[in-house]
This record gives sequence, C-alpha cells and structure tokens, in this order.
Amino acid sequence: MSAAPSVTRGTPGPRSNALAERAAKVIPGGVNSPVRAFRSVGEPPLFVAAGRGAYLETADGAEVVDYIGSWGPAILGHAHPNVVDAVARAAARGLSFGASTAAEVAFAERLCRLHPALEGGMVRLVNSGTEATMSALRLARGATGRNKIVKMDGGYHGHADALLAAAGSGAATLGLPGSAGVPEGAVADTVVVPYNDAAALEDVFERFGDEIAAIIVEPVAGNMGCIPPEPGYLEGMRSLCDRNGAVLVFDEVMTGFRLALGGAAERFGVRPDLVCLGKIAGGGMPLGAYGGRRDLMAHLAPEGPVYQAGTLSGNPLAVAAGDTTLEILAADPPYEALRRTTERLAEGIETAAREAGIAVRVQRCESMWTVFFTDRPVRNYADAKATDTDAFARFHRAMLARGVLLPPSAFEACFVSVAHGDTEVERTLEAARGAFTEMTS
Ligand SMILES: *Cc1c(COP(=O)(O)O)cnc(C)c1O
Repeated sequence: MSAAPSVTRGTPGPRSNALAERAAKVIPGGVNSPVRAFRSVGEPPLFVAAGRGAYLETADGAEVVDYIGSWGPAILGHAHPNVVDAVARAAARGLSFGASTAAEVAFAERLCRLHPALEGGMVRLVNSGTEATMSALRLARGATGRNKIVKMDGGYHGHADALLAAAGSGAATLGLPGSAGVPEGAVADTVVVPYNDAAALEDVFERFGDEIAAIIVEPVAGNMGCIPPEPGYLEGMRSLCDRNGAVLVFDEVMTGFRLALGGAAERFGVRPDLVCLGKIAGGGMPLGAYGGRRDLMAHLAPEGPVYQAGTLSGNPLAVAAGDTTLEILAADPPYEALRRTTERLAEGIETAAREAGIAVRVQRCESMWTVFFTDRPVRNYADAKATDTDAFARFHRAMLARGVLLPPSAFEACFVSVAHGDTEVERTLEAARGAFTEMTS
C-alpha cells in the first residue's frame, strides 16, 4: 500500500541533522532530556521549528501529526491562541518578581476547585514535576517522621535521587540506584514493587508497615507505556495507607487534567492524601504543583519545619499559561471527545495490525495510549519489557516517514489533543496501514 498523497515525510533531513551535529558538540548527547535523542528507536533526533494545533513543523519543513504533545502538556494542541495571548499579556507586565501576585492566588484557588485531592486543602507551586514529587515526599517524611517510601517498578516520578531506584524482578526489593551518581544511601529507604501487584504491596506493609512514610504511584502508569490500574488496585492502596498511617501520593503529573478535570482521583474515585501536578497544569510552561490535606501541608515552611522554596515558583508566565489552559478545559470539558478520538485510533491501529498479521495491543485510558507489540495484556513493567521493542522501533520509523510522530520509545504514552480531529485520525490510520505493510514485506 502506498502512502496517502497528503503525507509529508517527517524523517529528520539535512537541517535537522546539521542541528544535531552542532548540538552534540555543546549539549551532552545533543539533547536537554535523554529521550529526545530518539536512540531507543534508532533514529537521529528530530528538531522542531514550530507547533500548531495537532501538528509540529520540523526543522526540515515537514508537517507531522504530533502524539508527543510535549510529553503531555499540549492537551489543547500547540500554540492555542488564548494561552499564547495570556502569556504575552503576562510578559508585558514583567517576567518574574520573587514576590506574590494575585494571579498565583487565583490559580491555586482554581487548582483546589478542580482536583479532589486539593478540595478543602492547600497547594504549593513549583517549577517542574520533578520538584513536585521530590517535595511531596520530603513533606510526607517530615509529617510522618518515617523514612521509607514505596514506589512501583517502572514508575517514573522525575529525576530526584530517592526516586531513581530500580529493582530486580519479582517480589518487593529494596531499591538499588537506577543511575550513576545516586548514592546507595539515597535509595536505601526506597522500596520498589511491581505495578498492579496488590499482594506485593501487602507484603511490603507487613514487613515495614510502621516505617513507611508514603506510597507514590502514577495512578495510571504512563512512563512504562500506558498501563491502567486493575480494578480495586488503587482502592487497596488507599486502605493500606489508612491502616498503616502512611501518606498516599498520587503522582498525577501526567494524568492530572488529562483523564478528567479531577485527574485519576476523579476518574477512579480514589482520593490520595497528596497529589503532584505538572505538565497540563503549566499549559506548556515550566510549572509543577503539589498539595492535598491541610494538616499535611501545614508542615511546610514558613508554617512548619519542612523546607521547600523556589526563586521562580509561581512564575507569572507559567501561571498565566496554566490558568488559561485549565479555564478552557473547565469551561467545556473535552474528555468525552478525547476518549472517542483515542478509541478510533486504538481500534483502527489494532485492526490494521491484525490485517497485516502483526501482534499488537493498543492499551489506553482516556486520551493516553500506547501501541505494544505483543499478543498479551501488559500489566506492569516486566510485561512491557517483554514486548517486541525492535518492532516498535521499526513502526516508529515507518510512521514518522509517513508524517506521524509517536513518542520515540516503546515505554511511553501517546497523547491526543482537542486539535486531533477526523483528518488527523484518518491520516494516522492510513500511515499505520502503510507502516504495518512495510514491516511485513
Ligand atoms: C513527566 C513526569 C514527571 C516529571 O516531570 P518533569 O516536569 O519532567 O520534571 C513526574 N512524574 C510523572 C508521572 C511524569 O509523567
């Protein structure tokens, strides 16, 4: 099957490659965040010139349908005029003051109205998802006077030392550093368990119950590919924390305002003690937030003894982008439409794969989705690692050559925005049919 006539080739060309060469001389690996190097799909890095709606314009002038969406923030599509305008207006009044503004108060109020974990609670603004999770765990430890934290194998919570812990497969294991430069001491109190394994969690609480400060979890895993929680899993976590006096932290940096206005907490009806936000909450600008129960948040300086600060926290431009994005989402929640678009993509891709005789499962939750090359359900990181990542790499290259940009790793989620309509779905499915055919020939 040949490519549709409207398709532009997104594969990096001469300009992207020249930029990559310059970048490699002055930026480690040529990138400011490792996944942007496209190494796990065996491609050169893609350079972006501009974004509009569902599309990115590459440095080589191609226009590709974008499912990276800035790794989550771009739920309104790129360069939404109201958001751009709000940022421009804020910029004209000054970029940063290091003192409080009315806008950040209104934004905090909006966050507390929208997210169930913040209802009747409090929120603190920071500059990234990494800062949000790092600070939430310091707070959980400070408030409980306990040291151990429980995280899931394959769960990503940013690059703070204590959270860069990997573990052997199987049962609960004490954390081993997942990066050079992380001392063993930094992860000695990090306990790693497989995602979607209620028994492993029970076991950990049996062994360490009164030492555990917090569980931190992506309620829908998105950083090992999209893996929804099994029924009862989040509820079980909630009751384990209640019974043992541990703090339940939902890392909703990806799922917040993505699954629903109230994130996974609303979608699954489970309320954590603390929530971490970022990505969509910043509307494309660097912003994170963490918050929740008032009695916990009262431990933060200057009220309490847990220290956390930031020169640029509550930055007026970031707040303008985030507040406008959430205002638009709340005025006319797009979640039903996003789910339908994602469903058409997922079913279309599975059909195209089946017709080509390739084993593919598209896992999804609302507008997060991942194409796994496997014939089995993917329930945790071990399952994700057992999928055919070479096939994913070939699929990725073939899609990009047909003008569709997927995240360049088999362990990432794709994101649909409100700007992805019929045209983009058709173009994506046409590309997928061509890609699968190419893979079998
Ligand atoms: C992206 C992400 C983070 C880290 O956010 P940064 O802004 O990149 O620091 C943390 N947790 C989850 C679930 C994420 O998806």
